Amino acid sequence: MSVLSKSSLTLVTLGLCTETYLVPVQKNCKQCPACGMAIERSEGCNKMTCTSCGVFFCYRCNQQIDGYKHYWNGNCILFDLSEIERWEAEVGQQMM
Ligand SMILES: [Zn+2]
Ligand SMILES: [Zn+2]
Repeated sequence: MSVLSKSSLTLVTLGLCTETYLVPVQKNCKQCPACGMAIERSEGCNKMTCTSCGVFFCYRCNQQIDGYKHYWNGNCILFDLSEIERWEAEVGQQMM
């Protein structure tokens, strides 16, 4: 069901998709594909929930999604590698 071409999928998988590819509204913000509301990404994962209409969408490809299934199918990764590293650093600090 993905509208991503194979080449852009490869870019996403490699973590090479940049701002020129994603065209963010502003930093850490995405527009809801259903209602156009700008949603700020508060959590580290790429699964976004629209606070306006409640749909799930993907931070990476900006498509409306069913939920985590989108990531199980290998369409996108749920966490960016940089986010995982940041999380691990934060969790490590909390545990000390
Ligand atoms: Zn919405
Ligand atoms: Zn996606």
